Amino acid sequence: MVHVHLKHHRMQLPREVIVGNGALERVGEISRRLGFTQSALVIAGSKTNNIAGKKVRKILEEEGLTVDTFLVEAATVKDVQNVEEKIRTLKPEIVFGVGGGTKIDVAKCSSARSEIPFISVPTTASHDGISSPLSSIKGSEKPYSVMSQAPLAIIADTNIILRAPWRFAISGYEDVIAKFTAIKDWQLAREEKDEYYGGYAASLAMMSAKHVMLNVNLMQKKNEEGLRVLIEALISCGVSMSIAGSSRPCSGSEHLFSHALEIVKPNCALHGERCGVGTIMMAYLHGANWKRIRDALQKLGAPTKAKELGVGKDDIIKALELAATIRPERFTILNKLSLNREAYEHLAKVTGVI
Ligand SMILES: [Zn+2]
Repeated sequence: MVHVHLKHHRMQLPREVIVGNGALERVGEISRRLGFTQSALVIAGSKTNNIAGKKVRKILEEEGLTVDTFLVEAATVKDVQNVEEKIRTLKPEIVFGVGGGTKIDVAKCSSARSEIPFISVPTTASHDGISSPLSSIKGSEKPYSVMSQAPLAIIADTNIILRAPWRFAISGYEDVIAKFTAIKDWQLAREEKDEYYGGYAASLAMMSAKHVMLNVNLMQKKNEEGLRVLIEALISCGVSMSIAGSSRPCSGSEHLFSHALEIVKPNCALHGERCGVGTIMMAYLHGANWKRIRDALQKLGAPTKAKELGVGKDDIIKALELAATIRPERFTILNKLSLNREAYEHLAKVTGVI
């Protein structure tokens, strides 16, 4: 008798998602509904604590919870260890990550390692980490995001997020646009390497990218309506990763370029901005409509050139060369084409990046 063992596929999804003006006011009600009535730990940065962290704490305290706040300024291995230590001592029922990328990454990673849930309270909409089950920690062996845990709830107050510089929203927009090439790379890996391909997860991520592309004019208005479209797209991207069980639907060669450029020139530009430029070049390699992507980004005033990212011509070429090597198991168009330095230079020139 032949036994067929189908591998278990675990999907961890957010249970509550609240998006809108004044959503933060509902943090107490959500906490109660999810069964957290005793204690909570708020992870924030010094700035984001003033913007939203203190308010989260006040509302939870009014609900009768004992709340502690721990401020972090970066997302390094050390920051995660410090928060884990705090969790061991305080034993909170739930961790709130209040902030942009780094604070949410630290809250997500430390709570996952401590086996307690976390709630995401983004103060910017600059990338899909606000809703994804992955976290990106500096100083770990991997220069990219790794599986951690999905937020139990996401509370995205558009009134707060609108107060952040619009550049962050554009970065988030570019992180969604990046799914055009991420999906192409995933399809390529299915064809060439027989890699698992989740059609539903891929469709969901692709739909988000198409949706924001259709709404580029709305995004130009820099208002709540455009921000809502963006936040919903970012949340859908996060959910697509939860469904896929990896970052595959949302991170392909354009993300490898972004990670590589971050290595070549640390702290240059925002994650989404680097991905946006990567998407233009990778779309060209895929034979896709790269001009349409570039035009949309230019319309929003997003960087499409090396200079606008604050890097030089050589940095771009170095990053392209490095991109194919930093994550060997993630097969993309870069592995398929295996280009040399001259070809990369041509790519960057023909797409107007350098
Ligand atoms: Zn991303």
